Amino acid sequence: MDHMEIKKEISKYVDTRLEDLWELSDYIYHHPEVGFKEYDTSKKLMDVLTDEGFCVEGKSGGLDTAFVASFSIGKVKKPRIDILCEYDALDLGEAMPTETRVAHACGHNIIAATGVGAGLALKYVLEKYELPGEIRIVGTPAEEGGGGKIIMQDNGVFDDTDAMILLHPTSGKSKIAGRCKTSVSYDVTYHGIPAHAGNHREKGVNAHDAAVICYTGIGLLRYQTTDDVQLFVRFVDVGKESGVIPSIAKLQIQIKSFNPNSVHMMTSKVKNCIKAGALASGCEVDMEEKIGYLGRIYNYTFEKYLRANFELLGEPLKEGMVDDNGGEDFGNLMRKVPGIMPYPSLITEKRVALHTVDYLKLVTSPRAKYVVGLGSKVMADTVVDLLLDPGIIEKARKEMEEELEKENM
Ligand SMILES: [Zn+2]
Repeated sequence: MDHMEIKKEISKYVDTRLEDLWELSDYIYHHPEVGFKEYDTSKKLMDVLTDEGFCVEGKSGGLDTAFVASFSIGKVKKPRIDILCEYDALDLGEAMPTETRVAHACGHNIIAATGVGAGLALKYVLEKYELPGEIRIVGTPAEEGGGGKIIMQDNGVFDDTDAMILLHPTSGKSKIAGRCKTSVSYDVTYHGIPAHAGNHREKGVNAHDAAVICYTGIGLLRYQTTDDVQLFVRFVDVGKESGVIPSIAKLQIQIKSFNPNSVHMMTSKVKNCIKAGALASGCEVDMEEKIGYLGRIYNYTFEKYLRANFELLGEPLKEGMVDDNGGEDFGNLMRKVPGIMPYPSLITEKRVALHTVDYLKLVTSPRAKYVVGLGSKVMADTVVDLLLDPGIIEKARKEMEEELEKENM
């Protein structure tokens, strides 16, 4: 089978469908919905994929706005390769005007459109060249908070998947994602006893003091962590009474690292700092532990093919697999099934932070339309490489297992 010929066909096909894909991206942009509430968007995506001849099932993994759209020819449904779509929007907060408060400031409209684009191109070449295997476009809700992918994973949606790919737009030079961070956070509330700060101060129990002791303890802990650990602590509510011993104080604490074991090792120390605040001040404390996403890991086996396909399409890339400090639920998935993540750029000449109004402007730009085409092609090309040589997937799985083992050393 001639890989190059198939990839040329993919390019031509995506070019003929680019207006449709761009329209889809535009539709999603104009119907922003936050995590687990992407009713309109998921319906639109399922309708499009049904019309295109995919076998579409909604409510995957028990989530109302998740779906799986699969396609294969013949009986050989292996390897199974999943192309993941995200489509949740962000709530940018009270400072925004109501009409633009919920918006696609992380560009998930582009993720969904490119996922569909890659899927359509793959269906086209699977039929034309009678390629083996099964491709699935998987709609995964609530990446920005809630971890839709993890719920789907826990409910078995990815049990028989052999490899997965997820695109995310970025800024600066295009890149292939390396590691990101595992996190655990704590919402802490200290409850003291209010009392007049002058006349009856001995009757008060000061919640601010508890928070300061905790804050200081965590600040000192920073000197005794391994290099890869980040500790964040901030005050979120300190009460507004004046002349009174404050009876409430709230903190948010987060532990982050590339290595989940490093995060785990810090949790008991951080909890001790939280308890120390309560003990020293005499306050009661409520602490809610929130397990965040697991970090992504390297997969140089897949990276090699993805890079070659970006090069084929003329897109310059940063060297290597590029780490970032964020977190995302794809990290949980790619620790069970080998995966890879292309990050094509919406603006190559500078960096623009995700989740901002400036980034929101980029997700409908002419370059964004180009990225929808580029992303569809590069993912479809890479999936073709894997379908034609499942040995690559085998090697990638081994690499995944080795990467996970390294974290324990
Ligand atoms: Zn995002």
